[in-house]
Amino acid sequence: MRKSILALWAVSLSLCFALQPLITIKAQTPATLVDSDEFFQRASRNGPERDHSRKIEDLLKRMTLEEKVGQMTQLSIDTIAAGRDQAIKIDPAKLENAIVKYNVGSILNVADQALTIDRWHEIISQIQEAATKKTRLGIPMMYGIDSIHGANYVQGATLFPQEIGMAATFNPELMKRAAEITAIETRAAGIPWSFSPVLDLGRNPLWPRFWETFGEDPYLAKVMGVAFVRGLEGTDVSSSSAVASSLKHYMGYSFPLTGRDRTPAWIPENYLREYFLPTFETAVKAGARTIMINSGEINGVPGHVNRHILTDILRTELGFKGLVVSDWQDIKKLVNVWRIAADEKEATRLSVLAGIDMSMVPNDLSFADHLIALVKEGAVPQSRVDEAVRRILWVKFELGLFEKPMPDAALKSKFALPEYRQVSLEAARESLTLLKNSNNILPLAKTTKVLVTGPTSDSLISMNNGWTYVWQGSEEALYPKDRHTLRRAIEAKLGANNVTFVQGTKITRPPNTTSNNTPTDQEEEVDIAAAVRAAQNVDVIVLALGEGSYCETPGNITDLTIGAPQIKLAEALKATGKPIVLVLVEGRPRIINRIADNVNAIVMAYNPSHEGGTAIADVLFGDVNPSGKLPFTYPRTPNGLINYDHKPFETENTSFGNMAFNPQFAFGEGLSYTTFAYSDLRLGKQTISASEELPVSVTVKNTGNRAGKEAILVYVSDLVASISPPGRRLRRFAKVNLEPGGSSTLTFRLRREDLSFIGADNKPVVEPGEFEVRIAGLTQKFTVK
Ligand code: BGC
Repeated sequence: MRKSILALWAVSLSLCFALQPLITIKAQTPATLVDSDEFFQRASRNGPERDHSRKIEDLLKRMTLEEKVGQMTQLSIDTIAAGRDQAIKIDPAKLENAIVKYNVGSILNVADQALTIDRWHEIISQIQEAATKKTRLGIPMMYGIDSIHGANYVQGATLFPQEIGMAATFNPELMKRAAEITAIETRAAGIPWSFSPVLDLGRNPLWPRFWETFGEDPYLAKVMGVAFVRGLEGTDVSSSSAVASSLKHYMGYSFPLTGRDRTPAWIPENYLREYFLPTFETAVKAGARTIMINSGEINGVPGHVNRHILTDILRTELGFKGLVVSDWQDIKKLVNVWRIAADEKEATRLSVLAGIDMSMVPNDLSFADHLIALVKEGAVPQSRVDEAVRRILWVKFELGLFEKPMPDAALKSKFALPEYRQVSLEAARESLTLLKNSNNILPLAKTTKVLVTGPTSDSLISMNNGWTYVWQGSEEALYPKDRHTLRRAIEAKLGANNVTFVQGTKITRPPNTTSNNTPTDQEEEVDIAAAVRAAQNVDVIVLALGEGSYCETPGNITDLTIGAPQIKLAEALKATGKPIVLVLVEGRPRIINRIADNVNAIVMAYNPSHEGGTAIADVLFGDVNPSGKLPFTYPRTPNGLINYDHKPFETENTSFGNMAFNPQFAFGEGLSYTTFAYSDLRLGKQTISASEELPVSVTVKNTGNRAGKEAILVYVSDLVASISPPGRRLRRFAKVNLEPGGSSTLTFRLRREDLSFIGADNKPVVEPGEFEVRIAGLTQKFTVK
């Protein structure tokens, strides 16, 4: 009897699954904003392939060795210009030398600060004039730039939350839209190539580029990465609204042993493939045109000479067709940093043979001279040079540069539109992550009298972080005057009379901001006593702490703990007895264990960019219900750096008490002003073969009294495996929007790759045995036969 009921249930459930679309919604409201798998499949599709081979071969036949090597050379704009900042001018003699004499194929970046779109048009036009009219073959220049969170080197461009915040939205549609706008504004400036997205995994929060990543999870990062690539490249990369992407920094760059930038990593190949390859692999398969190389070393082999990674994996396995560009000065660094080559000529030979197609030299013409000599001596085969040049020309043809090398004045009208700013605001709002809300102190009433204090409370610099107008993001004078800091946004919401502002402490960047040797931020007290006094007359303290701005090596730190003056400020305010709402504006999780228990609410803002102040105020005062979730594990102690997908014996339940995983906040944590109840976790089958799909359904209901968005995270655990299995891995997610009382039943389909891991032989394997699916607090087991 029981058996037949079960069988009937199974039949009807599988029928149900068979008839249902990918996501089924029973809700009264249009609930699903995004389903990660449906999005991923869609966004991974590139446009139709075009064949440029005849044109490429025709050009190649006519090119001299010098012209070919020139195409492989990338120089910084400083090498062809005089003056800095807005006063920068192309120097005709230097331009002639680089482009006409050396046939340089690519130029990059800015001289110290973002230019206006008009200045960009002038500069790119001059460069293209020389490349297309003064050289023998007229091959257009390919200008490349770091459009990291918007076209951040074009004044007035729309800037978006940094990748870490975009990851917290769990909404790849927003990431794609942000990247589309980035592409439109970059191309509008006449620039066809962006050095983004960063596809390194943020698994070590000490790493100063943590905020440039999509956090610690490979699945979330690969979905967001594909969104970024599709947004930048579109389905026709030659169009005026698309640019070529550059996946970086391939691969393993983000996981140095010390946490410091460009220091050694030890990553065995199975873990390299398990964690660090998937983001690149999926973006390559989605059609990304270029890739930039890891500036560090793995297992003693610098990224730039790692033939196994650059050629065996990237070309032979993944079938990458585009161009490989080095990172900044990285061929020279093989000599003076890594000591893998005795001189630059040898470094050039090693890296070109390993698979580097274009060298970001970028300050002189040494690469070209060395490579020409190497080919003449027979130390580098001509065929290797031809291969690199074919790829470079392919990208130039793909970008439509041969037909339209010049900036298009008409595109200026597509620049900085108000609707783009709305997307940035939406992204900032969806990124904000409510980590604590004791006694539902938030949202605050708009009649509340507030003290706003703390080093990040009145700073657009903290809101943006690096890659904002200048490399380090640290030049206040360059920031727009009409965007709200948190302080200004709260004043706008409550009326200035209800807001008291006292700085409390400050974070400053030492003046020499362009040097890699710059010491890290300096923090100091400003007026803590005044903040304490002001607190007496308010209802609530909004305390904004965190970090200033930094980027790459200058952002190295020796202690993850939040700055001492900030702790002092928080403790002094606690003593007033007034409720404290802590807002964290920071690019990596600075340790706050001395503060966290003393505050009533915590909002993690990451680096939400120019609309961040407004978005945070919207959340604090209830105009927006927060829906972000942490894309990383927030450590409780400086040495407690354990990711969410650690081994089961490292969890709280372990008998090794002092090994217990005990983060300040867990991966995927994020509260709402409403409540969600999960029920009916069901699997389509209890036993499957590795090649079968497994439908997993769950119902989510908004049980509170306001509308809210919820990211639903689906984890899978392989309970026993030949490589000791992690406790769980994120395999799917979806984001829904539910009215009070509304519910959705979602169906996810797990496939082979969601059950597999990289085995000891470095190949993916699904091992038979028991698995577990976990969604919120619900679990179900199934067997793979
Ligand atoms: C960074 C890259 C960047 C390049 C060009 C390097 O220092 O590592 O991410 O794209 O500079 O600015």
